[in-house]
Amino acid sequence: MIVAALNEQDEGSRMKVFTHEKSASYHRPGHPERPARITMTVEKLRTQTEIPVQCVRPEPSPNVALLRAHTQEHLARLSEPMDFDADTPYFPNIAERARASAGAALAALKAARGGEATFSLMRPPGHHATRTEAMGFCYLSNMAIATLEALATGAKRAAVYDFDVHHGNGTEDILLNKPGAALFSIHQFPCYPGTGARDAGDNCFNYPVPPQTPRKEYRKVLQRALDRLKEFKPDVVGVSAGFDAYARDPLAQETLEAEDYYWLGESFRGLGVPVFSILEGGYSDDLPDLVLAYLKGLTL
Ligand SMILES: [Zn+2]
Repeated sequence: MIVAALNEQDEGSRMKVFTHEKSASYHRPGHPERPARITMTVEKLRTQTEIPVQCVRPEPSPNVALLRAHTQEHLARLSEPMDFDADTPYFPNIAERARASAGAALAALKAARGGEATFSLMRPPGHHATRTEAMGFCYLSNMAIATLEALATGAKRAAVYDFDVHHGNGTEDILLNKPGAALFSIHQFPCYPGTGARDAGDNCFNYPVPPQTPRKEYRKVLQRALDRLKEFKPDVVGVSAGFDAYARDPLAQETLEAEDYYWLGESFRGLGVPVFSILEGGYSDDLPDLVLAYLKGLTL
């Protein structure tokens, strides 16, 4: 009996991380969205001893899931060898890499529904990709794909909480006015991509925060968005986890510290519904510490 109880406890506190070494297999020199974001974080998770982590390779997303969020033309465009914009290069096999990242989001959703603590640690990120366009380092909208999958497979109310410092414009584009879906995005404004100054449609709630907002104030806004998410009474929550509102991130001007990411993880653990998180941005060399702090909050 004691052994069984210990095993159960162990099972419940383990963090299942979906990651694949191939997500570090493409890069453009000097680009901030770089392979070390994944390799250094995997290394950190492997060498730390605070939480039990199980790394699992995800399967690529099937077409049916991609096509709920994107047009066929967009999927075909990912294989055409031309850059998408100045920030978003074409890479050979980027279509395959993006499909793997979307597959990890789906796997994380499935694991969360099975009662597991879970995180998708993959590149490329997704929350700027719209239904028809790759932009902002993003090719496929991993979060919208997973949210639409949740709604197509039994969820009545699926919420997205996006704490990346940039507005989740792609998630908004795809989920706008979708019955059963809601987006709560907290982001620096003004900042890239220049959207998200106000709410959109009847289900996209935006929380623009001025640059250099003190941590305490930023956390109040994060809490307000979380309170509103709770009022929505979701039966599943997807978290677009970007770590670029961090005080020393090179791409934005906000003020969060590792303990704020711990607090966010802890807050989601307390929701009492399946929660899955997927990596979006986060460009400082401290990213591995920030991810670990967040996972500890989700787990401990
Ligand atoms: Zn970002």
